Amino acid sequence: MRIVFIGPPGAGKGTQAQRLVETYGLAHLSTGDMLRAARDAQTDIGRQAEQYMSAGELVPDDLIVAVIAQRLQEPDCRNGYLLDGFPRTIAQAQALDAMLAEQGTPLDVVLELQVPEEELFRRLAGRGRSDDNPEVIRQRLVAYRQQTEPLLEYYSRRSLLRSIDGTGAVDDIFHRARAVLDHVDGSKPR
Ligand code: ADP
Repeated sequence: MRIVFIGPPGAGKGTQAQRLVETYGLAHLSTGDMLRAARDAQTDIGRQAEQYMSAGELVPDDLIVAVIAQRLQEPDCRNGYLLDGFPRTIAQAQALDAMLAEQGTPLDVVLELQVPEEELFRRLAGRGRSDDNPEVIRQRLVAYRQQTEPLLEYYSRRSLLRSIDGTGAVDDIFHRARAVLDHVDGSKPR
């Protein structure tokens, strides 16, 4: 099963993603984690990404598309994966579609985690990552609204979008996600 997991910063994607990849035996492809690792290791890509990340802005599409293109070639992706934090722009979604079409491995589902904005701000402010200060949080929410939200319509038109309520207890949210994913073709819950 190939999943795109979409939701605003602070929606709790990371927590749910971890449980979902274990449940369905998927590779977890978090672009935020990959970029933070690259930044900490001071690789070429990490150095290029750093300035954008610390400002709460998206890194350039060509940079992140190159990272994902390479990652998707790794053997653990053959049994399916969950993309967490990618795509985040229409251009990224189009690049992903092109890559997957070439390989004959289309997406199975796009899962959206819905959380109201007031709640996001509250959660992010309590988290304490280096890009979690109020001004940068605000910028990340703006980036989501302007650049990522248009993907919901993009995937809805392709009949791939399924949305769940991301508020409440972690377990309840997880069960909502399972209720959707258990019915996706190609899903193999463990
Ligand atoms: P969050 O969703 O909580 O803002 P992430 O860990 O997903 O955080 O991403 C952290 C930062 O990494 C983003 O603010 C952005 O700068 C960069 N980033 C991650 N994924 C992408 C992407 N697909 N396109 C552009 N920038 C990205």
